[in-house]
Amino acid sequence: MQNKVLLAISAHPDDIEFSCGGTMFKFAEQGYDIYFVVATNGENGFKIDHKPKSLRIKTRHKEQLAAAKLLGVKKVFFLNYRDCLLPNDDGLRVKLAKIIKKVKPAIVFTFDPANRSFESVNLLHRDHRAISEASFDAVFAARNRYLLPGEPHSVKQFWFFGPDKPNHFENITKYIDKKISLIEKHNSQFSDHKLMSDWVKTHLSCYTKKYKFSEKFRIVDITVPFVLEGRK
Ligand SMILES: [Zn+2]
Repeated sequence: MQNKVLLAISAHPDDIEFSCGGTMFKFAEQGYDIYFVVATNGENGFKIDHKPKSLRIKTRHKEQLAAAKLLGVKKVFFLNYRDCLLPNDDGLRVKLAKIIKKVKPAIVFTFDPANRSFESVNLLHRDHRAISEASFDAVFAARNRYLLPGEPHSVKQFWFFGPDKPNHFENITKYIDKKISLIEKHNSQFSDHKLMSDWVKTHLSCYTKKYKFSEKFRIVDITVPFVLEGRK
């Protein structure tokens, strides 16, 4: 893929790190420019002590920026929606489409919009469902020449995380410690780092027997439909 830009779109601070942090390190090593979108402030997912809302938001932004720095992310776009109340509406889709047109990614990472298994309360959080559908539709909107100002941009591939039907396992065995340190930047989310680390390792070791630790995805190529040049 010639265009080495990727955009990872999440609902909350820490979604990307938990879902595909190891894979992000691999893409960074391959020379990709990485951009993040974090749609909500994550203020209601605050696990450690109780602080006023403004402080919770500040803390989660700070943690997200620290994780992004460790990964060498070019920019984090904070959309500042309220946690647990992310609307999948025209406003969100337009914001995402504008970011896609601006950074021009070849690959978009986000939650799998097709996962409707409802087997996991955490994985299938309503904000995750909302951002996955909005991102899918925003990629379509960004391809359209007439819908929004500016040149259209065609994303080449989706890497959906949180899939119930994965078609790709990324070997992140070499990157497991880096992934854990990335997650550790989100201090407000756990009091016991050892417990978190063990939980992550247990999960990532059972996706496939091929690798000691892996992250799972459903990769979807976005193909260009026929254009019949010159046809009246
Ligand atoms: Zn989340």
